[in-house]
Amino acid sequence: MERPDRWPRLPGAPRPERLQQPSESLPGVGPALSKKLAKLGLCTVRDLLEHRPFRYEAAVPERKIADLLAEGETAIAGEVRRVSVRRPRRNLAIVQARVADDTGEVTAVWFNQAWLAEKLQPGTRVRLRGQLKRNEFAVRSCDLNGLSATADFAPVYPASEEVTPKRLRGLVERALELAPDEPDPLPASLKASEGLPLRADALVALHRPRSLNEGEDARKRLAFDELLVLQVGLARARAGREAAVAPALGEPAELTAGYRELLPFELTPDQEQAIAEIDRDLAREAPMQRLLQGDVGSGKTVVALYALLRAVEAGFRGALMAPTETLAEQHFLTIEPLCAELGVPVALLTGSVKSDVEQARIVVGTHALIQEGVDLQELAVAVVDEQHRFGVEQRRALVEGRSPHVLHMTATPIPRTLALTLYGDLSVTEIAKPPASRKPIVTSWVTAERSSAAYTRLRKHLDAGRQAYVVCPLIEESESSKRAAEVEAERLRRAELKGYRVGLLHGRLRPAERRELMAQFKSGELDVLVATTVIEVGVDVPNATIMIVQEADRFGLAQLHQLRGRVGRGAEQSYCLLISRPHEELTDIAKQRLQALVDSTDGFELAEKDLELRGEGQLLGTRQAGLSELRFVHWRADRPLLERARAAAEHLVDYEGPLADEVERVFGEHELAA
Ligand code: ADP
Ligand code: MG
Repeated sequence: MERPDRWPRLPGAPRPERLQQPSESLPGVGPALSKKLAKLGLCTVRDLLEHRPFRYEAAVPERKIADLLAEGETAIAGEVRRVSVRRPRRNLAIVQARVADDTGEVTAVWFNQAWLAEKLQPGTRVRLRGQLKRNEFAVRSCDLNGLSATADFAPVYPASEEVTPKRLRGLVERALELAPDEPDPLPASLKASEGLPLRADALVALHRPRSLNEGEDARKRLAFDELLVLQVGLARARAGREAAVAPALGEPAELTAGYRELLPFELTPDQEQAIAEIDRDLAREAPMQRLLQGDVGSGKTVVALYALLRAVEAGFRGALMAPTETLAEQHFLTIEPLCAELGVPVALLTGSVKSDVEQARIVVGTHALIQEGVDLQELAVAVVDEQHRFGVEQRRALVEGRSPHVLHMTATPIPRTLALTLYGDLSVTEIAKPPASRKPIVTSWVTAERSSAAYTRLRKHLDAGRQAYVVCPLIEESESSKRAAEVEAERLRRAELKGYRVGLLHGRLRPAERRELMAQFKSGELDVLVATTVIEVGVDVPNATIMIVQEADRFGLAQLHQLRGRVGRGAEQSYCLLISRPHEELTDIAKQRLQALVDSTDGFELAEKDLELRGEGQLLGTRQAGLSELRFVHWRADRPLLERARAAAEHLVDYEGPLADEVERVFGEHELAA
């Protein structure tokens, strides 16, 4: 019998295409709301369905009104009798509602939610969650005609100022009706052997768990899927990689010995460890694929130059590729004087500078390095700085037609679990501890009302002959960046920084102007550099000991950490002052972000915190393939899950269906490192 092209759809069979519909297809979502949702990365129904709650409300007992005590949080249910709004002060509205059940009445109170009064018409059924205080019930969350926000284990979603967690909860509930349309990518046998629930069930439990355990099991099932997709992709890549051959560089020799002597300091144990690992890699013919991670200022460049010199002393050449001109120039400025002492010619090659590449044994540059016509013969060691900022194409072009040993460097620390997840068999070296001579930066967080005190401190440093940074949000004249750096620099020159020499560094400057400005700051001709985030990387001025970040709540955690790394580069104690809007105006997450920076200067710890707070993989601004797909993985806790996914992936390289589709989707456009 001929099989028809398309079998008729069985009633109740999943229709995954429904999940790809835009959020606007949900009732109650118009163009304005869908735009706001898009800013949270929620574009489709599926995005909503997979929006992970970052926590759940606790379970609280429900009490009869007559039984209410001034204890902890409780829930009550009843009917509104009457409602009123008082405005005792400007900026303060108090909604009061008399709520009754069959045992009694209580006054429930809301602050600054005047709009609620209209909804609390007499006769409305409500369920309230809150606390009895001075005989009034202070409401934390409420449900009108239903059970959602006040439910035990109600999900709390990463929200924004424009879309509240409450709003999101409503939308996710609508999306949940389509959960059965979500395809289940796992073979049934694997689900059974791993004891994993159905994917659709996991989604429902994720958003409406009956216990915290149920929520956690659901998250794990979803995390397993994500890890599995990455591991299958990696397994495929491994299988497909042909055996390339790089020059084996033997043992370290005189040049690198001379380099060690030239350095004005002892290498730290972490640096020695990194060098030992690199030496081991370079002695082999299999091209090195090593990721060198370390916080800004931890001393990676020193290690990178060692690797480059290893190439030179073996008669080959080395290249260092950086993602921006500023960074390439900075590297050149660091490397060139050392190499001059050693008699090694170095060239700089960027879009705007071309020195003598032919003669050079080490070439430092931007992606101009890999453009046509640049002769990189005899390349044995390639160092790629901030490798995640290059596209796959660029990284590939560097090794095309040759197979050098490659050292990837990154100052955006990636938790080890994540590194393993993403890079598979790439070896990872961490420089976890900075040179001991350096004191950890002291960070404080103040709100805007106290910014003048922050500037007083900054001026003290300037008066003591130190230099400072003031960082402002983006320079674009968008509504959200009120303090465009230009306006702010002008204002500061007239006010807080009157009498000091202030320079303005922003992304719109031409490279030559930027270089000039940086040189002036470095040589001490400027006291203060007012800057946008362009100072994020590649600025090294040890005399700069204090930084003020304006509107710090507008920056990401990783970005703030990177910015902060611009100070604390000398032996002096350095300070970072984060100025934010008042506490009341900040989201929970913004507060946690700022507090995390106050509490820690450890980049790895902050990276994990960042992941935790974001609950998704836009890690540290990387656009690394695969990362944005990881919404459910908990980096610290999921290591065993990762191992399970790795083991399962080995058998699923050729497994077809939704799993393969997912692998295609994630790996199709980009490719994992190297
Ligand atoms: P990274 O590239 O990780 O940001 P660098 O290699 O640029 O760090 O080092 C930052 C600063 O610390 C440089 O001024 C460098 O000379 C100095 N430095 C590096 N290693 C050591 C060390 N072992 N002891 C003291 N200072 C060091
Ligand atoms: Mg550096």
